[in-house]
Amino acid sequence: MSGLIDALREIVIANRILAAEDVVDAFGHISVRHPDNPDHYLLARSRSPELVTMDDIMEFTLQGDIVGDDDRKPYAERHIHGGIYERRPDVQSVVHNHAQALIPFSITKTPLRPVMHVTGVIGEHVPVWDIEDKFGGTSLLVTNMDQARDLAEKMGPARVVLMRGHGCAIAADGIKEAVLTAVYTQVNAKLQLQAMPLGDVKYLSQEEIELTPETLIGPLAKERAWEYFARRAMGDEF
Ligand code: MN
Repeated sequence: MSGLIDALREIVIANRILAAEDVVDAFGHISVRHPDNPDHYLLARSRSPELVTMDDIMEFTLQGDIVGDDDRKPYAERHIHGGIYERRPDVQSVVHNHAQALIPFSITKTPLRPVMHVTGVIGEHVPVWDIEDKFGGTSLLVTNMDQARDLAEKMGPARVVLMRGHGCAIAADGIKEAVLTAVYTQVNAKLQLQAMPLGDVKYLSQEEIELTPETLIGPLAKERAWEYFARRAMGDEF
């Protein structure tokens, strides 16, 4: 039970960090796999992340059905979370966001690639999922499990998948790792966009991409970064 309370508290902090760092705005969400039931996940009701409190968190099956007697309105795109949890037993937390700096890499042939040590976490290959490929003309929102499973398949074993003309999904083995990866995916996009007009970009090597995640989500760095971003987002509330 205390695991659940801790999870709820961390989800609130995660929402506040993602909002403070402009990774999410009115839209976007973060979930965690239920600490006591790997077939369920925890996610806020349909509400802007900045405003989410512990009372807003709902419980869902991996298929996106509401658990318990709860008539609050869920996020239309909650299926993104279940689709990834279903395919990836290693994943404990999922973020969906519309971070604006990512969009150019989802609508052109230029891949998002790591340019800095703390952004090596995004991985060597960041796939781009285009909803149109399989589902034709849509609102671009992921509103059912077929679409979510297709997105998860495109993501494969990656931490980040871009969604064409929409945003991204991020998957990690913990909520802190997911939040930090989401923050630094947008940092990488901004830096790459700044560097490209200057000439040929030297990206991190494959070996560097294997070694650098430690600098952000290794045990020491992760706790230090979480404390920093939580305090920035919440002030004395944290
Ligand atoms: Mn969306």
